Formats: sequence, C-alpha cells, structure tokens
Amino acid sequence: MRRVAILGSTGSIGVNALNVARELPEELRVVALAAHSNVELLARQAAEFGAKAVAMFEPKAAEDLKRRLDGGVEHFASGVEGLCALASHPDVDVVLTSLVGGVGFAPLLAAVRAGKTVALANKEPKVMAAAQFMREAERWQARIIPVDSEPSAIFQCVQGLHPDPRAAAPLKTIRRVILTASGGAFGKYKGDLSAVTPEQALRHPTWKMGRKITVDCATLMNKGFELIEIMNLFGLRRDQVEIVIHPQSIFHSGVEFSDGSVLAQMGEPDMRLPIQYGMTFPRRAGRVVEPLDLVKAGSLEFKAPDFERFPCLALAREAAGKGGGAPAVLSAADEVAVEAFLAGRIKFTDIARVVERALAAYEVSGGLPSFAEVVEIDAWARRKAEEACR
Ligand code: NDP
Ligand code: MG
Repeated sequence: MRRVAILGSTGSIGVNALNVARELPEELRVVALAAHSNVELLARQAAEFGAKAVAMFEPKAAEDLKRRLDGGVEHFASGVEGLCALASHPDVDVVLTSLVGGVGFAPLLAAVRAGKTVALANKEPKVMAAAQFMREAERWQARIIPVDSEPSAIFQCVQGLHPDPRAAAPLKTIRRVILTASGGAFGKYKGDLSAVTPEQALRHPTWKMGRKITVDCATLMNKGFELIEIMNLFGLRRDQVEIVIHPQSIFHSGVEFSDGSVLAQMGEPDMRLPIQYGMTFPRRAGRVVEPLDLVKAGSLEFKAPDFERFPCLALAREAAGKGGGAPAVLSAADEVAVEAFLAGRIKFTDIARVVERALAAYEVSGGLPSFAEVVEIDAWARRKAEEACR
C-alpha cells in the first residue's frame, strides 16, 4: 500500500490520479491533497478519499477549506510552505507533483530532500534544474519517476536494463531515443500562425490537459522541455534524442539500443497509465485504462518536426546545448509568454520571440547553478520576458 500526496489534485493530472486511486484501493491510499484555490473540488476530494493533510496555496482559500471540512483532516496549510510540508510529510511515501509552473520548484526540492518517491508530472521545475534534481535525488535516496507519457515510455523501456532508476545514468547501451510529439493544435494547420487565437491553440487533437501545457504543445515547447528532461534523466547527449511527429499519440516513445533493436511503449492516449505507473512503480498494478486497439487506430504516421515553423523547439535545443541556467531561462520566459498569449497581450508567434530575447540576454557562466541561483535566474528571466511582452 502506497500513501500518496497529490500536489495539484484539482487539475487535469490530479483528477486523473484520483481516478486511478479510486480504481486501485488495494494499492494506493491518498493521504494528502493540495491545490491553488479550487476549494469546492478539493473539499469533495478530501472527503471522498479521507485525506489527512490538505493545503491551498491561497491563504483565504485555505481558511475557506478549513471551515468546510470537519473531522478527519489533521493538517491544514497554505502558501509554498504548505505545499512543502505536504511534500515532505512523514506519512507520505509517494508525492505526485502535478502543479503547473515554477511554483512547484520548492515543493519538489522538499520531496526530494525528504527522500520520497516523486511521481513527477510538473514539468517546469525539472526543466529549470533537471541535472541538479537528479543529483539531489541521489544524495537523499529519493526516486524520480517521470509522469508524462513520453518520458514514462522511455523509462519503462529501460526497466529491463536497470531496475533502479538511480543507477540509470548514463545508460551506455542506449544509442538514441525516439521521442514522439503529437504536433499539438497546429500540427496539421497550414494557415498563418501569427493570427491564431488562444481558443484555437487550446484545441488539442489527442490529449485533454491544462491550459499551459496545451499551449506548450501547440508551440512544440513542450517537446523541447521533454528533450531537456530526457537528456538529464537518462544521461544522454542532445543528438541522441530524435524528435518525431506522430499525430495519433499511440507510440508514446521508444529506445534504440546499441545493437539497433528498438523497444517502444504504446497505448491509447490516456494519462492515467503513466500516472498509475508513476505511483505504483516498480509494481505494475491492474489495468485502469482502455486496452490498446491497433486495428481501430488503423495507421500510425511519423514525420520530422518543422523547426522553422515551430521555433520554440529550436530554442529548447539551444538551451539544452547552452546548459547552465539556460533551461531555467527557457522555462521562466515561456511561462510569462504563454500567460501573456492567453490573456490576449501577445500573438502566438510572439511566444517564441519573447523566449528568444530572454535566452539571448542570458550568458552562461561557471558550472551548474545551485538551487538558490536557479531561483534568481528564474526571477531575472521573468522580468526580461515581461519587458519583451510589453
Ligand atoms: P492544470 O492547469 O489542469 O492543473 C494545475 C493544478 O495545479 C491545479 O490543481 C491547480 O489548482 C494547481 N496549482 C496551480 N498553481 C498552484 C499554486 N500556486 N499552488 C498550488 N497549486 C497550484 O494542469 P495540468 O494538470 O494539465 O498540468 C500539471 C503539470 O503536469 C504541468 O506542469 C504540466 O506541464 C504537466 N503535465 C501535464 C500533462 C497532462 O496531461 N495534463 C501531461 C504531462 C505533463 P487550482 O485548481 O486550485 O487552480
Ligand atoms: Mg508529454
């Protein structure tokens, strides 16, 4: 029985994680829940799953929640400290981080330093300091299990090689990985991308997800984030990760080994599977998702990405190559730019321009920045990106 904390339980990943936990009561017990301000839903979740600890980022929301819940819940918290307290709570074995944005940085660090198993969905912190988090996890004997269909696919493909993910880097017998991307809302769109609206960008063809990541899929920045994550998780060079557009999202990603053999993980596009694996790892529990139906899928297509039409992917590759704090700049600038696009302040094609400006202004110096330095770089990049938006 795993005792699970879900940070971001009211979002797309969080709700799916609870759907999995509901189906696997013998495997998973939900003990802690946190969100930003959705008191209504979090209160219902806490009552249904009998959570012992809850946190709302917004202090007012936390008070509201306290008034609504009686009995059962022993620990109420708010702010980043509240999220960190849940992430390191002694009664928690697995922390699923499904917050959105850089706000998840401190809670992830708290979970790692408490030696937890982290089922990691929240992308932005791992892009900000992927190498540092891998190192820190080793130091504190924490485990980081990727919860994202493609990184999870690669992680699953290498399990036969190294049952212990902490021993995974560098996996010498990996020649390259094949990282697939759906192509996002504009994968098949032939029109002018500078004129597309947030509403169009939020229409993803295969996945139903939160707003930020759906826009990141439309710009292909999301794939760039995954590139950085995978390089660090598996100790790979940039040229060992081949990005392939695969609109059906069935071949979730694959690994080519030294002898040329390719293993892939496949399934219907359903986040519950990587979420479940992240929470039950290394066990495989019973099936919650629909079985894969290849005949129904018909044909699977693959093509090369267009780096010119989707410059965010090229920028992510550049940041991966630059190293140092460049990935942190990439993530922070993207967060600001996506917010500005969704608010109607900038055009879709400006997202890449804003990120490019911030990256161009950043100079890599010294080795890998410390966690404290990453926080400073993040704040600096947000200011640069804000300026560029204006
Ligand atoms: P959503 O926008 O659907 O959900 C975000 C969740 O985080 C909500 O529960 C929200 O709470 C909470 N949250 C936001 N800000 C804060 C804060 N400051 N403090 C506490 N809680 C906060 O996002 P997704 O579920 O789509 O994505 C979550 C993360 O997982 C992202 O980093 C994304 O890149 C990654 N991911 C998502 C995938 C998906 O399929 N959705 C796939 C792979 C990765 P509230 O409801 O109260 O606002
Ligand atoms: Mg993904």
